[in-house]
Amino acid sequence: MRQEEGSDFGARHRRLKRMPVLWLAGLFTVLVCISITSITVWQLRQGRAHELEIANTNAANLARSMAQQADDAFDQADIPVVGIVERLSYDGFGAATSSRMHDYLRATAASVEQIQGLFIYDKNGNWAATSLSHMPANANNADREYFKFHQAIDSNLTHIGEAIRSRTTGDWIIPVSRRVNDSTGQFAGVVLATIELGYFERFFDRFDIGQHGVLTLAMADGKVLARRPDLQNLRGVSIGDGELFRKYLKEHYEGTATVESMLDHEVRIYGYKRLDRYPLVVLAGLSEKEVLDEWRQYAWRSLAIIVCVVVANLLFGVLLFQQIRFGLNAESQLRIASHSLEKLALQDSLTGLANRRHFQEILGLEFAKGQPNLHPLSLIMIDIDFFKSYNDNYGHVAGDKCIVAVAECIRSNLNRTGDLAVRYGGEEMAVFLPYSDLQGAFALAEKIRQSVLARALEHHGNPLGIVSISLGVYGCLSQECPSMEVFVERADAALYMAKHQGRNRTVAWLEASDGY
Ligand code: GH3
Ligand code: MG
Ligand code: MG
Repeated sequence: MRQEEGSDFGARHRRLKRMPVLWLAGLFTVLVCISITSITVWQLRQGRAHELEIANTNAANLARSMAQQADDAFDQADIPVVGIVERLSYDGFGAATSSRMHDYLRATAASVEQIQGLFIYDKNGNWAATSLSHMPANANNADREYFKFHQAIDSNLTHIGEAIRSRTTGDWIIPVSRRVNDSTGQFAGVVLATIELGYFERFFDRFDIGQHGVLTLAMADGKVLARRPDLQNLRGVSIGDGELFRKYLKEHYEGTATVESMLDHEVRIYGYKRLDRYPLVVLAGLSEKEVLDEWRQYAWRSLAIIVCVVVANLLFGVLLFQQIRFGLNAESQLRIASHSLEKLALQDSLTGLANRRHFQEILGLEFAKGQPNLHPLSLIMIDIDFFKSYNDNYGHVAGDKCIVAVAECIRSNLNRTGDLAVRYGGEEMAVFLPYSDLQGAFALAEKIRQSVLARALEHHGNPLGIVSISLGVYGCLSQECPSMEVFVERADAALYMAKHQGRNRTVAWLEASDGY
């Protein structure tokens, strides 16, 4: 019973000990998976942020370059306008119709690429001069927005109007105009330079902005002047309600922002800049989807690899887990096997009693050098009577069964832990009683003898007609015990005396008489 409890405890202890190894293997596998995944996700996030940062820088640089180009383009158109206004102010408006003026307008328009035409209108909007080769009869531009503006507002600043289609050439143009005053300060007319939109569109075409990128030149209020890609129907459309105008351009003159286009709903990274000297805005937008295209492909490839690595790692983890479990099971089976082997090595195979080797070991421990005996020790030596003749009469197999029966009688009488029943050799057995004195051992010996008789195993070779045994007992009190050899010899001598006195009896070796 106690032994069972002990083995239960051992198994539980072993189970507890193997848990950490299995848990550690599982934990390690999961940690490796988590680490690989986190590192990859972190790297991908870093990569994405880097791509977006580069796109922001590119968009900002594009916007700056466009702003510079637009500034230059309007400057170059405005310079002759300023010159003509100056001349008309000093020489009088009549100079507008001189052939010299016509030549000047033609030469200037031809030398400045972006200028489509130069025009002078009188205070009623009638054409006074133009750089064009012929002047349409009765042409009047008093209905144009720029004319009305200058007519109404007395300002010497440049006015840039929204894109309009030229009545004479049919081209899309941007009007750049200034008011002319007469010597009394009254409105005398308007000088106009028209910039062809194609000039900006050709410039925009030089940049690589991907398939969904956008370059826009717009008025400060959001009216689109020029755009790439060129959407004819978008000219004049206002994007002033878009997030860029409502939020960003209101707060900063220049910067970058990621917003969804209100025209085509594409999310773009925009570089924006308001021109310093003109009420114009340039926008350079790169499609976020396109910017991240390469990164996205890389991310998918990385994720596919990571999934493979994680799955492989998990499979490896499962294999490792199984291997460890297999190893631990094998270890425990080996332990059980070695335990059984140990038991076999210490046990007599016929009777199941301890063998002589085990007996010697136990006795050796009790009589170990320097280890005082603190309790009484006793030994009973047992020998079956007339056993030679039992074998002769009934055969060896029956003889073995008889030995087993006697062994059972011995075992059934032992009930104290520490008592050890031994097959000493042949049909000789012994009982070592580490906590019994001589009287106790003698009483037990008698009980064993009676048990054997009680079995009444037939034995014709024995005068009793049944199997009997003879027993020799020796007992010593703690420190008075002799050496191990003498201890055994004395029990053996007592057995010899029992045989000598007629068998089927117990004889004790008596200390006082130094014999029986
Ligand atoms: P005694 O009463 O004086 O003991 O007479 P005995 O015939 O028993 O003599 P002894 O004790 O010397 O007996 C030894 C015999 O025991 C010899 C052998 O035939 C028998 N024997 C010894 N070991 C075994 C065994 O393992 N099996 C069987 N069947 N017989 C054995
Ligand atoms: Mg014998
Ligand atoms: Mg015998």
